[in-house]
Amino acid sequence: MKTFGYAAQSATTPLAPFTFERRALRPNDVAMEILYCGICHSDLHQARNDWGASRYPMVPGHEIVGRVTEVGSAVSRYKVGDAAAVGCMVDSCQHCDQCRADQEQYCRNGWTGTYGGADRITGEPTYGGYSKHIVVREEFVLQMPKGLDLARAAPLLCAGITTYAPLRAAGVGPGSRVGVVGLGGLGHMAVKLAVGLGAEVTVLSRTKDKEADALALGADRLLVSSDAAAMAKAQYSFDVIVDTVPYKHDINAYMPLLDVDGTLALVGQVGPIAEPSTIPFIFARRKLAGSLIGGIAETQEMLDFCARKNILPDCEMIRMEQINEAFVRMERSDVRYRFVIDMTSLKA
Ligand SMILES: [Zn+2]
Ligand SMILES: [Zn+2]
Repeated sequence: MKTFGYAAQSATTPLAPFTFERRALRPNDVAMEILYCGICHSDLHQARNDWGASRYPMVPGHEIVGRVTEVGSAVSRYKVGDAAAVGCMVDSCQHCDQCRADQEQYCRNGWTGTYGGADRITGEPTYGGYSKHIVVREEFVLQMPKGLDLARAAPLLCAGITTYAPLRAAGVGPGSRVGVVGLGGLGHMAVKLAVGLGAEVTVLSRTKDKEADALALGADRLLVSSDAAAMAKAQYSFDVIVDTVPYKHDINAYMPLLDVDGTLALVGQVGPIAEPSTIPFIFARRKLAGSLIGGIAETQEMLDFCARKNILPDCEMIRMEQINEAFVRMERSDVRYRFVIDMTSLKA
């Protein structure tokens, strides 16, 4: 199938129109027309080869919402016209212990990225959601529950599941005390999801500037992390802290805020953090954890939960040709809180 999208041809070239082929449907494949695609911070990192493993040409995009246009002969859960979605993964080995436990994101044999990966059968490069169509095996297609606004739901496929998984892993529910560090695409979802789960939510920020935003998102309060007295008073007051800061930073001020057995989950920074002291770990059995997106079953659970609770990201819709400008603005954190590309703006 001939299709088209926007691609980076190298780490230093802007995204530009690109025509390419999607594979002919295998028996277990679903073809979709893409309606909306969220812009994730990792799209920018990958397009610029910040993590060193990028393959070009690259069509980024792994927050994909669309409509089914064709299904393979063995597909049972989807039919033409269904609203459907694709996140960060399009395949995995399907037989290791992690895959069997619905944790494909930790597949022992490596999962296949929606873009920048290699098809497990042909080895051909995978291309992402900044494009008109996509073909994905049924097991990696999500159902869009009725009632979820398709135009705003796309960021749930990465930002949503990335923050939902550590909250669920920590057993967050009514009465849980949750802290959120960083109030960008991930952080604003962490707040909304934790509030939806019934938690008491505090946003941690260096200044008071984001207080009104934090409260508008549903948080109960903002704790100013540069206020030593307020931080001292807040010791032992969180069950879990979700840290969404996407660059090297210092967690030493946050650890003492956790209660005994509390966990700080890192979901933003992929790489080094400032050297942590072991004192808060040892003296209250606190834990430092990481978390990567979530499995397909948990992603579906999160979508259904968001539909039930009417939880949606705050989005700014852009046209496809505004993508390079959106990347520049995203680098300056000049977006509230996630860009979504209206893919109807992409013409051949
Ligand atoms: Zn992402
Ligand atoms: Zn596996």
